[in-house]
Amino acid sequence: MALATTNLKSLAKSCGADLIGVASKAILTDGPPSADPRYLLPSVNSVISFAVSLDTDLARDFISKKEWRAHCDDRKKIAQKLYRIGDSLVEKLRSDGHEAINVDLNNNYRPEDNAADVSEMTEFHPEFSHRYAALAAGIGRLGFSGNLLTRKYGALVELGSVLTNATLAPDSTIADEDHPCDKCKMCSLVCPVQMISTKISKQVSVAGITETIAQKRPNTCCWIGCSGYQGLSTSGTWSNWSPYRLDQALPEEKEELDALCISLQKADPQMQDAANSFENYRQAIFDPDWFYYTVCGFCRTVCSPDRKTRLANRKLITNSGTVALKLDGSHVVAEENAREVETPFGLNVIASPKELSQKDPEMEKWPGQFPLDREVIKHLRQSDSR
Ligand code: SF4
Ligand code: SF4
Repeated sequence: MALATTNLKSLAKSCGADLIGVASKAILTDGPPSADPRYLLPSVNSVISFAVSLDTDLARDFISKKEWRAHCDDRKKIAQKLYRIGDSLVEKLRSDGHEAINVDLNNNYRPEDNAADVSEMTEFHPEFSHRYAALAAGIGRLGFSGNLLTRKYGALVELGSVLTNATLAPDSTIADEDHPCDKCKMCSLVCPVQMISTKISKQVSVAGITETIAQKRPNTCCWIGCSGYQGLSTSGTWSNWSPYRLDQALPEEKEELDALCISLQKADPQMQDAANSFENYRQAIFDPDWFYYTVCGFCRTVCSPDRKTRLANRKLITNSGTVALKLDGSHVVAEENAREVETPFGLNVIASPKELSQKDPEMEKWPGQFPLDREVIKHLRQSDSR
């Protein structure tokens, strides 16, 4: 058992994993439902968790709004690497006669009552939580943000998991005295939609560990911020990389937030697109033309292992201004005279008057343009708002 586990870890490392650990099924079955690996593999005995770190220079350029797209591309490359690491582990386990599955990285949620598809979802509970697996496998602990924090890379990692019926040697969880989160609250302070409370906390128990994490607003709140339907912070002085704005403050009540999120998703051209990543995330990740569109994740990207860097990261975020859409599909830091223009998609977009006044702008090639941006650009090109 120990030798097999060591060989699997070496294999994952040789495929590019920065961190790898093993958890037994037993310690994952007493947590929240999405921690339980039996949902995807009833015969499961062990979970292999692995992490790949993000490029910190690109992440810093992202949060300081120097450069948007390079961090998006980095995340896509890392997702490809994670799929390949999982595939190699699965292949090895199966060739040794075991059952094994490579858990999808994202966009696979447990069914919800009254939700015909993802556009009607409000809870977004994953089929299996990579975060809980990583906690149980000793890769990290949950920070105040609820994100997985590692000692070496902070929260700047992407996670993958393989489930197997093989019995492998489990790793120890990280002890309380080595917990990487010092409750600096920078994660709360850089969330444009105030998803993460600074003051109120709650407890979550997984793998025999009880973590104290922030009370959060309903999941639809993050969905609205992270999907880019509202990029502007409540201070109005900075945003994430989204050029979109709602013409109302986000509701406080869960029911209203949920209804708003559903209406925005229904109007979002991405949901009508045949290449919708919710249909097949893996296929999207390996499609060279699919643009990995990420505009936020600031609660994670701020969270370096070192406190000084976290404080500096927060400043980079809150001093880097707001974002506008250009007619070539790029997102740029908004000029002072940028204005808000209504769109048919239930949200407004920020664009500069110079951009809007171009009579016949050349359509620049922007591979893998995001569906919402593409349709909004078409609208801006045709509408009187120019
Ligand atoms: S930003 Fe600070 S409080 Fe938030 S998870 Fe990271 S270390 Fe913890
Ligand atoms: S991803 Fe963005 S919107 Fe969601 S909780 Fe983190 S900072 Fe807030």
